Amino acid sequence: MAERSFQGIGVSPGVSRGKIYVYSIAEEVVPEYDVTVADVAKEVARFEAALMKTREQLHELQDRIASGIGSSSPSTILDVHLSITEDPALIDSVINRLQQEQKNVEFVFNDVARKYVATLSELQDELFRERAADVQDVTRRIMRNLLGHDHRALTNLPPDTIVVAHELSPSDTTSLDRHHVSGFATDVGSHTSHTAIVARSMNLPAVVGLRNLSKFVHDGQPAILDGYSGTLIVEPSEQTLFIYGQLEVKRHSVQERLDALHDLPAQTLDGHRMILSGNIELPSDTPVVLAAGAEGIGLFRTEFLYLNRPEFPTEDEQCEQYLEVARLVKPNAVIIRTLDIGGDKFRSEDTTPQEVNPFLGFRAIRFCLANVDIFEAQLRAILRASAEGNVKIMYPMISGVAEVVQANDILRQVMHDLKKEGVAFDEHIQVGAMIEIPSAALTAEMIAPEVDFFSIGSNDLIQYTMAVDRVNEKVANLYEPTHPAILRLIRSVVEAAHNNEIWVGVCGEMAGEPLFAPLLLGMGIDELSAAASSLPRVKEVIRRLTLREAQELAAASLHTNSGREVLAMLNALLQRVDPDLLG
Ligand code: PEP
Ligand code: MG
Repeated sequence: MAERSFQGIGVSPGVSRGKIYVYSIAEEVVPEYDVTVADVAKEVARFEAALMKTREQLHELQDRIASGIGSSSPSTILDVHLSITEDPALIDSVINRLQQEQKNVEFVFNDVARKYVATLSELQDELFRERAADVQDVTRRIMRNLLGHDHRALTNLPPDTIVVAHELSPSDTTSLDRHHVSGFATDVGSHTSHTAIVARSMNLPAVVGLRNLSKFVHDGQPAILDGYSGTLIVEPSEQTLFIYGQLEVKRHSVQERLDALHDLPAQTLDGHRMILSGNIELPSDTPVVLAAGAEGIGLFRTEFLYLNRPEFPTEDEQCEQYLEVARLVKPNAVIIRTLDIGGDKFRSEDTTPQEVNPFLGFRAIRFCLANVDIFEAQLRAILRASAEGNVKIMYPMISGVAEVVQANDILRQVMHDLKKEGVAFDEHIQVGAMIEIPSAALTAEMIAPEVDFFSIGSNDLIQYTMAVDRVNEKVANLYEPTHPAILRLIRSVVEAAHNNEIWVGVCGEMAGEPLFAPLLLGMGIDELSAAASSLPRVKEVIRRLTLREAQELAAASLHTNSGREVLAMLNALLQRVDPDLLG
């Protein structure tokens, strides 16, 4: 087959080679891979568990039908279905083949079931032909249970898999097995979607916004996924493989040079120090950002602890997870952001109707102030963890001072309760507000006296200021971090913070882009917090500049009326200080 190249948006750096696996939620896609002799027993156990689950579902259905029609005898159709789940011909044949072929159970079961149905359909006897439909129905149900309901077909993938999908939710993405999945490509999405953010945290190469790629590729095709340039090359030629081999060597040597900065501070040539922290979604991301040189955690997106599970985590469970991070980063800080559910982060268990504009809807602090019990449980967990580490609290999606006052009132009450119960916590815990809604940026002077720090969420600030949906690839070209409106908002937030003697960071994706580091440094930002993969690059830029030249650049940027002009200035600067970091 001839090589074919698809161009999208590179959202997580790195190049991976592997075989394509098309993940479709519309229809069952059956994965096929080899398992070791030692793992055969596990596959058999998975099969038995799926059979058991199917039987339970059928019994439940029988009960429901019986109560619906007021009958005391079970449905005979479902009796037939139940007997198929116990059919020794089917079960033995699957188990025998699992033992002989050492393949994954979905693949073997699918093949056995298909042949079973085909044989029955070809028989002369009408009764057997009817039975074929029943077998098909039940085996589909067993297959769905094998694949798992929520993230079916995304787990248990063979090594070096490149997942191609129309869309992956942030929670789908967290469920990808980093050891087997080497990258993903989606039709939709953009740079600041939470799916892209999770990919960067996982150091997983990713390309999004490929429009209708998923229709043109199929399982098993060899491919190269280039998360730098945003390209997916299917059936790569020998020549392309050679070019990528050479690029890899070059990137490797740049990475080695950057790795050497690990223990050095993010300090300019004239001695100005910035704090460079890491963003995490799960406690398990912490060692990765620390290995990349983070001084602490500038943003812990705690909502990821609430996804992919049927119940909300308990206070104790949350406390455990916060403690784990606090202990790992001690004496540096972890900024724990309270629940920012909504927008593009939903729990698959949520049964509430979808909102028309979820990013403008019931999200983050709005949800927490309306569900005080959930909010209080989280605040208690954070406070308890603060007894053992350097923990700070941050409220997301603040639109004005009233919400901060309301959240702080709840926090004070929670502190009061803990004190009464004799539970230890840091009574001087720092509390911050995210500035990510234009109304908060414009009233930052009013909010500053109520908090200890600000953190600018550039992802949402840009989305809401420019009316550009951060996950929509169709408008991704309009998403402009250097637009004069954004620069003015950032400047006024920094001024409001410093006038009130509080510090201000940036934890949106702008902080992780080496191109923007001189601008943010020059504007007076005190802390940058970004994904692991970005940290060495950002540090490198800071270490190659003086504060003075960064301030001059920021002042000049604020005098232009074109975001493109600012970009050109930033590109020229990066070209001068370290061209290897461009692209
Ligand atoms: C932001 O909006 O920039 C931010 C850091 O928060 P999130 O990306 O989780 O919305
Ligand atoms: Mg945000």
